[in-house]
Amino acid sequence: MASIFTKIINGEIPCHKLDENESYFSFLDINPIRPGHALVIPKVEVDYMFDLDDELLAGLHVFAKRIAAAIKEVVPCKRIGTTVLGLEVPHAHLHLVPIDEIHGINFSLSQPASHEELASLAEKIRDKLKD
Ligand code: AMP
Repeated sequence: MASIFTKIINGEIPCHKLDENESYFSFLDINPIRPGHALVIPKVEVDYMFDLDDELLAGLHVFAKRIAAAIKEVVPCKRIGTTVLGLEVPHAHLHLVPIDEIHGINFSLSQPASHEELASLAEKIRDKLKD
């Protein structure tokens, strides 16, 4: 069965998309640790990040770099932290989280965000991606 993220890529489940190309897709996490928390995924459905082939694994970070820069322009923060867990959704994904301190990536802070909040933030980040 297709992962929830494959369904998002295919448009079967809505998301607050930030960007995509032929190999990767990025959208806002619906339970952000903090506003601006986004996910970057390969379009190919592979569960474990380190099972991606070398080129796809490296390219994921190159794709994420632009997204992180755009988030950082919209959400004031010291930097965009990255982490990979993958314990919930079996489709490799990189978390991009605005952080100001060492404990900034704390999943116990995750909270559902409203559709309006996510839509407005996604629009602002997409605008920066056009630059
Ligand atoms: P993990 O697999 O532990 O790295 O966590 C999966 C992440 O995906 C969590 O932060 C969820 O909030 C997020 N997530 C799950 N379903 C969706 C969805 N439909 N849209 C956006 N983010 C999601």
